[in-house]
Amino acid sequence: MMEPTRFDLSQDRLPTAWFNIMPSLVQAGIQPLPPLHPGTKEPVTPDLLAPLFPEALIMQEVATDEWIDIPGGILDVYRLWRPSPLHRAVRLEQALRTPARIYYKYEGVSPAGSHKPNTAVAQAFYNKEAGTKRIATETGAGQWGSALAMACSFFGIGCQVLMVKASYEQKPYRRIFMETFGAEVIPSPSPTTQAGKAILEAHPDSTGSLGIAISEAVEVAATSNGAVKYSLGSVLNHVLLHQTVIGLEAKEQMKLAGESDPHIVIGCVGGGSSYAGLAYPFIADRLAGRTQTRFIATEPAACPTLTKGRFAYDLADAAGMTPLLPMYTLGHSFVPAPVHAGGLRYHGDSPSLSLLVKHGHMEARAYTQSEVFDAAVRFAHAEGIIPAPESAHGLKAVIEEADAAREADEERVILVNLSGHGYFDMQAYDDYLNGRLPDFEFDPAAEDAAIADLPDAPSLGG
Ligand SMILES: *Cc1c(COP(=O)(O)O)cnc(C)c1O
Repeated sequence: MMEPTRFDLSQDRLPTAWFNIMPSLVQAGIQPLPPLHPGTKEPVTPDLLAPLFPEALIMQEVATDEWIDIPGGILDVYRLWRPSPLHRAVRLEQALRTPARIYYKYEGVSPAGSHKPNTAVAQAFYNKEAGTKRIATETGAGQWGSALAMACSFFGIGCQVLMVKASYEQKPYRRIFMETFGAEVIPSPSPTTQAGKAILEAHPDSTGSLGIAISEAVEVAATSNGAVKYSLGSVLNHVLLHQTVIGLEAKEQMKLAGESDPHIVIGCVGGGSSYAGLAYPFIADRLAGRTQTRFIATEPAACPTLTKGRFAYDLADAAGMTPLLPMYTLGHSFVPAPVHAGGLRYHGDSPSLSLLVKHGHMEARAYTQSEVFDAAVRFAHAEGIIPAPESAHGLKAVIEEADAAREADEERVILVNLSGHGYFDMQAYDDYLNGRLPDFEFDPAAEDAAIADLPDAPSLGG
């Protein structure tokens, strides 16, 4: 009989609640650490975040309930593309001659081409409910800006995107995508904010960074007298929460495929939202002692936050507008080399994911660009999808684990998050195919300089 390779949930089986990992962490003896005020170094109270976020999102940021209902207005939009498919990569298994069974959860089917609309739609919905008229945000390569521009247009909210200047100039198609949904896109650093002006005075030719663009977008909201709110596409608890629809669906789909618990769950990490979204519903079972599933987080060798960073309190942005977060960090002034996986070029990582790595529940691996694109092309040849350069980091780990299963002669079950497609990243593939893809060496001296810039805060011993 033909072996099925695609496992779909019908639309009425879309999850109706998000999964909050916090109670599982606490029960496993891992105490979440509070974000700190950048001035007083005291724990941030919810009212301090009120100028930036609507109350519903602030409550989710500090939520201790295990399940949080998804409002009908959000489910209605999710149904445009969710539940997303789970595929078994049989042709890749054959190409790798592995006894492993490889499954990928494909988030590239969303209208913006990645997992990011899962939180963009939720954030736009709660802002609409709170009466927000306009949202400011940053974007690196343009994935997050695309998702938020679409979500804001669905709910009739204005959207202003500070886009890292290097991408603004090199990736016009993402800018046009956002503008098609009515967003205003401004290259960052820009003369429209104090943070942008200060950078431009010191470095008139600055091509920008995610940290600078965050400072600018936060400033727009913080100085708007309530007229504009701010939105972040990764790192924060509420963002990871919204992404858990990925893992909740995948759990049901693995059952449809006749699998019990996967042996290995893999994903790429920029700030950690897509990987947490897939992994957290599964890692709760490990934390409770019910499974021994292994978790592998992957990242670029040019921005090796989890593998080479410190576990410390650091700012989320370049200019010091944001609270201090307890996380693995390369230092907020670290500017990663311009690898094509723009969504993974961030100096920090989500606090809960950082804790899971710190406590040994997750492994982390860093890869160079050329090994990542080798994996991407092998995957495309077998499965037909050209992956986002970010997602391809996870595929590299899949191939390593499939090889290990062959050597051990074991039928291991591997689950990976294919967080997006790469159809806006053709320049990256062109560079790879024509030998123009540099393997940037990570510069420990640049990290040391950025670590010296860490704010004074209680040590986390990392
Ligand atoms: C933004 C992005 C990422 C990285 O962000 P996370 O918050 O770590 O998920 C990964 N994959 C794709 C396709 C992205 O657009």
